[in-house]
Amino acid sequence: MVLTTDKLIHVLEQHGIKTSYQRLQVLEYLSNDNTHPTADTIFQNIHKDSPVISKATVYNTLKLFAEKGIITTMIADKFETRYDFVTEDHGHFICNSCGKIFNFNYDYNKKYSDLKGFQIEKEEIVLKGICKDCQNKK
Ligand SMILES: [Zn+2]
Ligand SMILES: [Zn+2]
Repeated sequence: MVLTTDKLIHVLEQHGIKTSYQRLQVLEYLSNDNTHPTADTIFQNIHKDSPVISKATVYNTLKLFAEKGIITTMIADKFETRYDFVTEDHGHFICNSCGKIFNFNYDYNKKYSDLKGFQIEKEEIVLKGICKDCQNKK
């Protein structure tokens, strides 16, 4: 998903976030990286091109984006929190060998007969296994 700067500014505005150069940098990075990066990976990559950006800025920006619903977060057991710009319903496949996380289309049906009366706030489907690349390496 490659978005123009105009589109990215629009995304920020839609979510009630004031545009700043650094927020745009973080959002642009996320729109280009669909590997569900950790906060640290995001910071390292942005920092390479713009050494002035601080870790705190990146972490605070990610927190803000997650609060406003621009990105979703997920925790994949031994891995750190991962950030995901795709907010439409989708499932995740986690490779047990390389740790990569892949998106796939998944329609959540929101019908869980055993959970009558429960309020569901987040649905996550996580599959685990060995991805194609890792299988081919064997
Ligand atoms: Zn793999
Ligand atoms: Zn995802």
